Amino acid sequence: HDISDRKELDQMKADFVNMVSHDLRTPLTGMRAFLDSLGAGVYGELNKKGNQASIRIQSSLTRLVNLVNDLLDVEKMEAGRMEMRFGTYSLKHLVDASLDMVRGFADEQKVTVEVGEIIDADVLADLDRMVQVLQNLLANAIKFSPKGEVVTISSSIEPGFVKVSVTDRGTGIAESDIAQIFDRFRQVAPSKSGVKGGTGLGLAICKAILEQHNGTVGVESQVGEGSTFWFRIPGTQKPEKTA
Ligand code: ADP
Repeated sequence: HDISDRKELDQMKADFVNMVSHDLRTPLTGMRAFLDSLGAGVYGELNKKGNQASIRIQSSLTRLVNLVNDLLDVEKMEAGRMEMRFGTYSLKHLVDASLDMVRGFADEQKVTVEVGEIIDADVLADLDRMVQVLQNLLANAIKFSPKGEVVTISSSIEPGFVKVSVTDRGTGIAESDIAQIFDRFRQVAPSKSGVKGGTGLGLAICKAILEQHNGTVGVESQVGEGSTFWFRIPGTQKPEKTA
């Protein structure tokens, strides 16, 4: 490949992402704020039809904003510009913060999230980014579970590392697809997984974030049985308190 062609392409990509971030994200955020005010009655009471329409548009806007944010994340991670602010956090705090983010979605999907053993450990992490990872794995597990099923989160300790697992009894993933789902824009054929929406970017972003944590991510899955997505990041068990 010609180097100058490649450079030009990289520049075009960077310009495009800048355009997306400024020309799309800013007005979208403004629209969302306006709809929030509308729903809160700041501009007077809407009738029932108006309210329903406002709620529908609000959820489309949320999807759009999420898609734009995912695209920006991917660009940042490709350019090696995903900045991490590392600190020491308790695993319990990380898990609780992630559970808070998906509780509403789980209720909506009629899926129960069960919390197994969460080790009393400290992890070295960018808290917001790791919450994003765990939220993503939990949301996928919920999304691909049938109604009434249970998703379980648990953890274990390994020398120098903490391992967190999210298990579902959903559709499962064929062995031939597993190698690809961590790639960008990769989704298993809708005929196999049911049409679920999404961008196919979530797991690619998770993997990039985990790599910057010196961590690893993986999955064990069986079609029709379910999946266990896990990751491992540096961490240590807290010494047991002696009373
Ligand atoms: P998205 O969920 O936006 O499609 P992801 O990158 O998070 O993108 O996931 C990529 C694909 O991996 C999904 O479209 C789906 O086919 C598959 N997948 C991810 N998590 C699960 C799961 N828990 N059970 C079954 N399939 C899954």
